[in-house]
Amino acid sequence: MIYPAVPIEAFEVRLNDLSLRTTFRTHRKTLRHHSTVVVRVRAGGTWGEGEAYTMDPSGVAEVLRALRLEGSDPFGVCAITERIEIQAARSAVDLALHDWIGRSLGLPVYRYLGLPSVPRTSCVSVGVDEPERMIHAAERWIKEGYPILKVKITTDTDPAVLTEIRRLGGESLEIWVDANQAFEPEQAVRVSRRLSAVGVSILEQPLSVGRIDDYAALRPHLAIPVILDEEIQSAADVARAARAGGIDGINIKLAKLGGVQESLRAIRVARAHGLSVLIGCFFESSLGIAASTHLQSLADRVDLDAPLFLENDPYTGLEFDGAVVAPPERVGIGVTRQVSRNRGS
Ligand SMILES: [Mg+2]
Repeated sequence: MIYPAVPIEAFEVRLNDLSLRTTFRTHRKTLRHHSTVVVRVRAGGTWGEGEAYTMDPSGVAEVLRALRLEGSDPFGVCAITERIEIQAARSAVDLALHDWIGRSLGLPVYRYLGLPSVPRTSCVSVGVDEPERMIHAAERWIKEGYPILKVKITTDTDPAVLTEIRRLGGESLEIWVDANQAFEPEQAVRVSRRLSAVGVSILEQPLSVGRIDDYAALRPHLAIPVILDEEIQSAADVARAARAGGIDGINIKLAKLGGVQESLRAIRVARAHGLSVLIGCFFESSLGIAASTHLQSLADRVDLDAPLFLENDPYTGLEFDGAVVAPPERVGIGVTRQVSRNRGS
């Protein structure tokens, strides 16, 4: 049977107003309340829904509303999304179309992508804060049995915080560190030695974006593997980073790269260059995070902890067992909207 051609009949753009349980800080931003962009497409009577985090939700929503996708072929994901320049806008549409295809075919996204369903253990994040508060936050996660922490640091983070977290978690605790572009190269070298001494396994994005050529010279002096995050916004960026050298892996986030299709390309380019892959996230609801779980079998590491921080996740269907998460065994992305907490288009 060939699935009948059906045009997109309706296309909606909304903002999802989300709140975190507590304020979360990194070197570059502070979050408590924010909005993500949600796109809904309907074709053949079936709806598909996608979400993306952006620093400019109103601007991205405006770009999306101007698209006029009605009449397009909803299976034509690449043809539709290549017209959209802004990654977050592209990602919201890409996810909505993947959700629609899965719902129409009666399959979870991972299945029609030809990928296995693999449960993975996500890290949980500890934000930048006063030392006692960072240690307290880490201690809470450790006591609740979370085995991997990603600790956000900045230039004035006391290294004793990491030493204390290691003491609390013991040798079995896995610790990753994310600098969110905080350092100059010399600082990165000094910090990496301290991190290595307490058994931190990766250092994410130590230098500011645009310094990709500095890593080749820096890497021999860095005591732990380096993962690039903010620097990587496309498959072409992965190729550029691999050519420049000096990095060990990349952090893929759907909203940062422009959705499932570009993320798959980026992961394959990374693998072809022997780079490790981390699948990460922003503070999206279970809709955006569930979409990422469909690709997680392709990753070495998973950072999909956003739903654990949200006070008002409007979607259900993505289940965490502690830190372990798997793609929902339902059609499409696999989550359902529960309450209407959005602003209409
Ligand atoms: Mg990061």
